Amino acid sequence: MSQVAVAPPARVLLPAPIRAAMEAMARAAYPAEACGLLVGTGRADGAATIERLEPSLNRAGHADRFEIDIILHLRLQRELRGSGQHILGVWHSHPDHPPEPSASDAAGADEAGFLWLITAVTAGVAGATRAYLAQGKGAGFTPLPLAADDAAPAANAADGAGALR
Ligand SMILES: [Zn+2]
Repeated sequence: MSQVAVAPPARVLLPAPIRAAMEAMARAAYPAEACGLLVGTGRADGAATIERLEPSLNRAGHADRFEIDIILHLRLQRELRGSGQHILGVWHSHPDHPPEPSASDAAGADEAGFLWLITAVTAGVAGATRAYLAQGKGAGFTPLPLAADDAAPAANAADGAGALR
């Protein structure tokens, strides 16, 4: 059965193809911000695995802001109900800005436990991607270790992946 909440992860596993998709979207949207929702599962070892990036239209009125399409968000929530997957967080790009949460990101991060992934894109070239855990309204972010799925310890990766698919 689907659970309402997933325990906050201690690290994030980001498979290389999804990271590549983020970088491609960041380049395509440049100099505007690209954004999307992160879908995946939690694991017993405290890792969150990103299994899907759902691209969103950027509904923000400014080039240096992003706003996820609420219709997409609601549709995705409905689609995932009972699937074992959840919306784990949000991804967006930072054109010509480090991959760290901005003041407006902090102002928009109301949901504790929500993952925020940010990809830098500088002069149209995608740079680093970093992961953060939102601490709740007004409480900012905690950086989380971000690894490629392949880099997970072999035994855990094999067991965990098998159990979830
Ligand atoms: Zn931002």
